[in-house]
Amino acid sequence: MAKIHFFYSTMNAGKSTALLQSNHNYIENGMETILFIPKADADKNDGYIESRIGLRAKAIIVDNDFNFYTYVKANVSKNLQCILIDEVQFLNKSQVIQIGKITDKFNIPAMCYGIRTDFRGELFEGSKYLLALADNLIELKTVCSMCSRKATMVVRLDNNGKVLTEGEKIQIGGNETYQVVCRKHFRSLTKLI
Ligand SMILES: [Zn+2]
Repeated sequence: MAKIHFFYSTMNAGKSTALLQSNHNYIENGMETILFIPKADADKNDGYIESRIGLRAKAIIVDNDFNFYTYVKANVSKNLQCILIDEVQFLNKSQVIQIGKITDKFNIPAMCYGIRTDFRGELFEGSKYLLALADNLIELKTVCSMCSRKATMVVRLDNNGKVLTEGEKIQIGGNETYQVVCRKHFRSLTKLI
């Protein structure tokens, strides 16, 4: 039976690279895949999923009204062996449920890659429901930028390096930057937990 695999991490843990390498393995073996990317992230790369090591692949851009189940049902083929979704934190609850239906009804595995928590330490909606519904949870690890512990959190900084604890979940075109940290440093920087 096909499974939902949720690869979760904080930022800069090589998620897109892992997705593109998995995709490459399918293609190399003559199998078909479909790649998806949420609109919130797609605009900056013109619908391509790109990795810092130079791999890239075209993805279907999805907004909040996009129905994964309907789309895959219309495009399913014998040779379709996997769907891969980047930045799954931006999906909503219904879309995660649609992914489950695809996996169960068409026996097609879903490889989902995303960030677990936002800059306030709260679960993203897509990640929340994938943590609940995925068969397989895989953590992609990275190291805290301030010590040698595992980074599990992210802080948002303004352009003066000041830590931000309020604001929109998704900033597009802002001057903010992000820093990955362990829980202890998240606590000392944000005072949120
Ligand atoms: Zn730390």
